[in-house]
Amino acid sequence: ATVFVSGATGFIAQHVVKTLLSSNYKVIGSVRSTTKGDHLKSLLNSPNFSYEIVEDVEKEGAFDQALQKHPEVTVFLHTASPFHFKATDIEKELLLPAVNGTKNALNAIHKYGSNVSRVVITSSYAAISTASKEVDPNVVVTEQSWNEISWEDAKKDPVSGYRGSKTFAEKAAWEFVKEHNPKFVVSTINPSFVFGPQAYDSEVKDSLNTSSEFINAILKNGPDATIAPTRGGFVDVRDVAKAHLVAFEKEEAKNQRLILNAGRFTLQSIIDILNENIPELKGKIPVGEPGTDKAAIAGLSTIDNSKSLAILGFELIDLKKSVVDSVQQILQARK
Ligand code: NDP
Repeated sequence: ATVFVSGATGFIAQHVVKTLLSSNYKVIGSVRSTTKGDHLKSLLNSPNFSYEIVEDVEKEGAFDQALQKHPEVTVFLHTASPFHFKATDIEKELLLPAVNGTKNALNAIHKYGSNVSRVVITSSYAAISTASKEVDPNVVVTEQSWNEISWEDAKKDPVSGYRGSKTFAEKAAWEFVKEHNPKFVVSTINPSFVFGPQAYDSEVKDSLNTSSEFINAILKNGPDATIAPTRGGFVDVRDVAKAHLVAFEKEEAKNQRLILNAGRFTLQSIIDILNENIPELKGKIPVGEPGTDKAAIAGLSTIDNSKSLAILGFELIDLKKSVVDSVQQILQARK
């Protein structure tokens, strides 16, 4: 089978492509430039990988040529979407690219992907949970939950903007299915914060992708940095990659939203793990108030993703391994 992966250069997508290749799939990735494509091709070092240029997923017809050229594609994984918290024009930089990118992908598959039977959209836990409910310990979040954010509220700040972008993009996908009744089946992957190592050691840069940077920043900011009250759910990128395969391989995954979440964390949880497990960091990162993460986590909603976990059928990597593996790779790369 031949799998098309949009945004193939991304943190998550590189792991997805790597996992697909090791499972003997042929992969066509979309990237934004030949420089990026050639770089990825040299990392992957596989005759089963090739790339097509899609400079901007938001441009009308963005994926048309790539799919016309590759009628052999049977599975389409749409991962490309802006993920950062630095937008100044939220509609232009986050909401519209996410929504139109998703619509462009689905339109192209509908028109030209005559052999595509399965489509997986990399959505997010951000499309599942409403910010105000996330901090209500009485709330139980499931695969049926939706972020109730409005387009207007999404424009208020970059974090809401990102969360809104994922919500409206996923809604657009399900609406497309309803409206066009295509012959392909859609599934979505809804991960919470994704941690874990980069797919290749050489991809460790000073500044990493948004979710990895939460951990990287702890290393960069020194022992006296104040610890931000960041808290949420997490999942390891290697599990996110495996889940993308399950999402198109398994019958039970059809039309499902898969919440990928291995547990809750705060920045204090990460700091505690690092101080306990990586001796060379002693004195170089904050100590904070060890163990106080439990109370902060108790103030959050409960995530019941048992349905997703049953479909996935594999055990998720825990916070300790995810964090330690991330940081060991960073420390190694900096030596
Ligand atoms: P990255 O920033 O590493 O990857 C994003 C990818 O999308 C990059 O390849 C980027 O290309 C591409 N992209 C962004 N905007 C455009 C555009 N307008 N046109 C073409 N390509 C574009 O982030 P992640 O790997 O973390 O994220 C991948 C997906 O997973 C996203 O959909 C994100 O929302 C989702 N996700 C991520 C989570 C996380 O914690 N990491 C959690 C939940 C969901 P380039 O770099 O060349 O600009």
